Amino acid sequence: MTVAFTFDLKATDGKARSGVISTPRGEIRTPAFMPVGTAATVKAMMPDSVAATGADIILGNTYHLMLRPTAERIDRLGGLHRFMNWQGPILTDSGGFQVMSLAELRKLTEEGVTFKSHIDGSRHTLTPERSMEIQRLLGSDIVMCFDECPALPATDAEVARAMRLSMRWAERSKAAFGDRPGHALFGIMQGGVTRELREESAEALKAIGFDGYAVGGLAVGEGQEAMFDVLDYAPDCLPVDKPRYLMGVGKPDDIVGAVARGIDMMDCVLPTRSGRTGQVFTRRGVVNIKNARHADDPRPLDEQCTCPACRNYSRAYLHHVFRAQEIIASMLLTWHNLHYYQELMAGMRAAIAEGRFADWQEAFHAQRAQGDIPPL
Ligand SMILES: [Zn+2]
Repeated sequence: MTVAFTFDLKATDGKARSGVISTPRGEIRTPAFMPVGTAATVKAMMPDSVAATGADIILGNTYHLMLRPTAERIDRLGGLHRFMNWQGPILTDSGGFQVMSLAELRKLTEEGVTFKSHIDGSRHTLTPERSMEIQRLLGSDIVMCFDECPALPATDAEVARAMRLSMRWAERSKAAFGDRPGHALFGIMQGGVTRELREESAEALKAIGFDGYAVGGLAVGEGQEAMFDVLDYAPDCLPVDKPRYLMGVGKPDDIVGAVARGIDMMDCVLPTRSGRTGQVFTRRGVVNIKNARHADDPRPLDEQCTCPACRNYSRAYLHHVFRAQEIIASMLLTWHNLHYYQELMAGMRAAIAEGRFADWQEAFHAQRAQGDIPPL
């Protein structure tokens, strides 16, 4: 287990990049989409099934795991990989974002954040040092710096204050992370939608030095256009030879637009959450399986898709089990959505490697513009 954490940038096409991240737990082909395994499970999926969709890496949430079942318990039980039976790489977030969005009675100081658990009201403290300790106990392969992500819209002064605090926390995160061969620590760029603040943040992170760099503080309500405006310059502020991770993104067209602007990694609950609410992503856009038009439709969701939901079941069946609130509905629709996302990434990786990413993007948008197949 002495394999180093490395990033090999193999091809670029315009600003889009494809490469391979090597870790002791396996390779991550980029651009990569990371399914979210919030509470030590990718909801409605067995780990083997997640791997079968083509996922190389999954994400775990520090905030949820520290509260339940606790990082100390997971450590005693052999670490997160063994606990949840996922042997590939795992990235954990720092807990910072979810403390801000989920916890009650938060108190933010220079030291860190104290808060009450949204589960049982118990009191906890997260600091850069504690976040690094929790992520080490979990056995995370890619550890994220502890940061503060302000919700947008916020004033420039508020965004600047949060960014500068996050940069001081990034320095403390790096010191607390220490020297751990085979494990990576990623810094997180903040600065909202203000270019000067993003540039200042990138310079501060590069001065500290990280194994990879995230663009944080986007997909928090600013809209796709504002997000793309930031992504038009933000990745260029980061080192070429390190992976770039856009946190919490997104819809298929967000992901394609981010890759086109130089992003290598993404995560989002959308494919899994939508699988449980009957929203299905296909080459021809979003299908709502709840809709009565599917009740008698013997055709698959997508005739070209090779996932089990499309190979073995009709729209009529998926409509029925969803309406009847059968558990298999969440299983099949989640599998399809994750499969679709991974096919999207594989398609982009191949197109970038072959220098035809612009054509690929055009075909992607043209297919979606067609909309779903007409009702029978
Ligand atoms: Zn499918």
